[in-house]
Amino acid sequence: MEICLKFLRFSHSAHITYDFWHQALRHLAPSTMDKSLQLYSDARIPARPTNYICSLCIKSNMTWIPRQSTLKKNRKKLDLVHCDLSGPFPVPSYGSSLYYVTLINDATRVTWVRFMKQQSETTKIIKDFVSEMELQNHKTPAAFRMDNGGEYVTKDLKGFCESKEIIHGFSSPYSPE
Ligand SMILES: [Zn+2]
Repeated sequence: MEICLKFLRFSHSAHITYDFWHQALRHLAPSTMDKSLQLYSDARIPARPTNYICSLCIKSNMTWIPRQSTLKKNRKKLDLVHCDLSGPFPVPSYGSSLYYVTLINDATRVTWVRFMKQQSETTKIIKDFVSEMELQNHKTPAAFRMDNGGEYVTKDLKGFCESKEIIHGFSSPYSPE
């Protein structure tokens, strides 16, 4: 740390960026850099740009970068539920199911899996899931994001979502989110 502070103190180059200093100080956490600036008023480090993020720190998972969960903290439980349909599988499960639906709570990443014999059961599964959430959490999911363009979303399911004021969006086929 002492070396870092000396480095800060004796720098007199006016055109060096904040990012340069962050890298030169071996990716020192910006909060520590800021503290050092307060101690050494003659340090010539430019002020930290608003929302400064270092891509290398993100890649190496440095602790000063807010975790994804922190970034999404403002998103509350059941604000968004991802809905994924998988199947049909060539071999049925023990319960003769050929499909399954995963429902992922975006804020908490809690995942529910429901097995089905036919794709057409998806509507009922989603309806039941909503009732279950209402009963357990006293909250109706605010939005569903259906995977692969939601080809399994029936008119019945659309009507149900509308009656419950649930927003239903679709992710494009084969995109990761
Ligand atoms: Zn960095």
